[in-house]
Amino acid sequence: MVPAPFFSITISGGNEGNLPTYECPICEKLFKVDRPEDAPFRPFCSERCKLVDLGRWLDGTYRVSEPLKPEDLEELSEEGPQG
Ligand SMILES: [Zn+2]
Repeated sequence: MVPAPFFSITISGGNEGNLPTYECPICEKLFKVDRPEDAPFRPFCSERCKLVDLGRWLDGTYRVSEPLKPEDLEELSEEGPQG
């Protein structure tokens, strides 16, 4: 039987300095998020930068080890707004 390791976790509220900081790989803007659900486009700062990154992949700017499958593209297209 292995004893469980003890971790000391300190949670301090109201200290913005402890918030996780992300750097957008597209526009290199630093941004902090209070909760993961507040930044649905991580590690990008916005949907725009996410689309820019996606465009670079599709444009061949980035090298991909595996070619995109038709199923992958279908998943993306299904997320568009209806009407
Ligand atoms: Zn950005």
